[in-house]
Order: sequence, then structure tokens, then C-alpha cells
Amino acid sequence: MSVSHIGLLCSGGDSPGMNCAIRAVVRTALFKGIQVTGIKRGYAGLLRGEFQTMNLSSVGNIIQRGGTILQTSRSPEFMKPEFRKKAVDILRAQKIDALVIIGGDGSFNGAKALWEEHQFPVVGIPGTIDNDISSTEYTIGFDTAVQTAIEAVDRIRDTAHSHARTFLVEVMGRNSSAIALKVGVCTGAENVLLPHEKVNHQKIVDDIQRGIARGKDSSIIIVAEGPTAGRSYEIQHILKDMHHVDTHVVILGHIQRGGSPTSNDRFIASQMGHMAVEALLSNQFPKVTVVQNGKVLLTDLAKCTTKADHNFSEYQTLAQTLSI
Ligand code: ADP
Repeated sequence: MSVSHIGLLCSGGDSPGMNCAIRAVVRTALFKGIQVTGIKRGYAGLLRGEFQTMNLSSVGNIIQRGGTILQTSRSPEFMKPEFRKKAVDILRAQKIDALVIIGGDGSFNGAKALWEEHQFPVVGIPGTIDNDISSTEYTIGFDTAVQTAIEAVDRIRDTAHSHARTFLVEVMGRNSSAIALKVGVCTGAENVLLPHEKVNHQKIVDDIQRGIARGKDSSIIIVAEGPTAGRSYEIQHILKDMHHVDTHVVILGHIQRGGSPTSNDRFIASQMGHMAVEALLSNQFPKVTVVQNGKVLLTDLAKCTTKADHNFSEYQTLAQTLSI
């Protein structure tokens, strides 16, 4: 088959750099003489027929903007086969013959179902701040989220130092340690608590006290949010009630999801958007654009439909060793 009209959507959680990928898909396709229809609000918008024709200027002045101009959503309906059939009927009625999906592993499961149930050509671009998709070393938005968290922790360190305080700073990552570990190393954090780690409160107390004994004025403990955001408050209460240690909690939350993408995110998103269109034009689907061994390339969609915690636990040791 030959692809002459691509549909493009973002799905799941947004991440900074999605706009760079949108721009790259649209500009590459138009350069190649391929029509692009933007689909608003993910699979939910697809089911409602929320389409817009993309031209060169639709993606002008967006490379530096966080979020996604196409917006995104989660669609419970799309989990059901009858709604995926409806989605394919809508796409075919619009003469859209392939789909580029920017999102996480959940969105890729939806894409996989479109291919398996209806042989609808799909290519995925990994976009999530969590860097938690199998078979890729990188997902668009991770670098920006880490940078944002680092800037926040640096500010917290200033006040922590002035008042000789200990802060628990909670960063995003339900199942993924990636943000917490990188932020921990880059901010000189005294401890990094991973999402599913059983917290050793006594060790935290010992580390704080050892720091004080050797003249430290502040401690920063990076806490990955884990399954329930706000986990830091529970840790704070135990430290206070059982160990009589005062701490302050800062939850960075959605601040990490916004903001202008870093050069890394812009560059990788641009490469991935370009490659996604090239894949469709050379009949390579269902695929996902990934980073492996530091290079952007294509891999089979089926390899990217599970979560992976690239849990570099040696970074936890690194953070603690360097902040001793
Ligand atoms: P992310 O893509 O960021 O991981 P979600 O897991 O919320 O985000 O998935 C986004 C959307 O993808 C869901 O709201 C749903 O519409 C679709 N989706 C997720 N999992 C599946 C699945 N197993 N089958 C079909 N569609 C799915």
C-alpha cells in the first residue's frame, strides 16, 4: 500500500517536546507531498471526529512550547473493540490511511489493537516524562522534566541551607525511578527513595545525623511519588512521630509536566517525528521510534507496549556516595 494521508494524535499524559514531534511529522509529511490531519484530544477526539487539516503554518512557532497543540486525553471507550472499530471506520471515511500516535505504553497498546484488529497502519512516538517504556532508552519530555525538577531543588537547597533544614522533595514517577534518580544525582541529594522501595526510616535519620555531625547544614531527600502521590507526608509523619526528626515536604507535581522543552527533547523529538513519517512511507509498520545505544531508530510496536523501569539503582548509590 502507499500512504498518502496521515492522521496525527497525542494520547495519555502530555510531555514537553510533543509539539516538536508534531512539527516534525507535519513538516516532513508536507515536504514529501503527504497530507496530514491533526486529531484533537487523542483517541477520544478521534471517536468524536475532531479533525483539523495541518499546513506548514499550523506548526509554526510551537517548537519552544510545552504541552501539545493537539491536546491529549485518556479514553476509556477506546479500550473496547467496538469503539476501535468505530475509530477505524471514521479514519477510513476521512481517507486517512495511517496514524502517528505520540504517547506512552498505554497509547501504544491502543495502536497495537488498531493494527491487530483492523490492519490499520500505525507508528508510535514515545512521549512521557517518566522514561518508562520498554525497548527505548528515552521518551520525549524526560530531559525537560528533570531539568525543571533540578531547578526547583536548587531553590529549595538555598532555603534549606539558610535554615539548616531537611526537605523531602517529591518528584513524579508512579512506577518509574528515572526522574528521581537523575534529579538525585544532579542536585547532590542525600537520599533518593524509589517508587516501590520499602522506606528505611532509621537509615534516613542516620544519614541526616551523620551529615549534621560532619558540618552539613541541610539535607535533601528526593522521593519518587510511587503509586500514590503525597507519599512524602507519610514519611514525614513517621520521621517526626517515631524519630523526632523535623522535615519539610515539597511536592513538585505537575510543574514537571510543563515548560519549554530542552535542546535534548527538541532534537530527539524532531528526529523521531521525521523518522515516523519515513517509516510509514516505506511501509514499515507497526513500529515505534526509539533510542537504542544512543541512536534514534525503529523497532516493532509490540516491543514497546509494556512499562519498563530503567531502574539504574547504581545511581542511588552514586547519589549517596557523592553526598556523604
Ligand atoms: P500513556 O499512553 O501515557 O501510557 P494511558 O495508559 O492512560 O497513557 O493510555 C492512554 C489511552 O490509550 C487510554 O486512555 C486508552 O484510550 C488507550 N489505551 C490504553 N491501554 C489500552 C489497551 N490495552 N487497549 C486499547 N487502548 C488502550
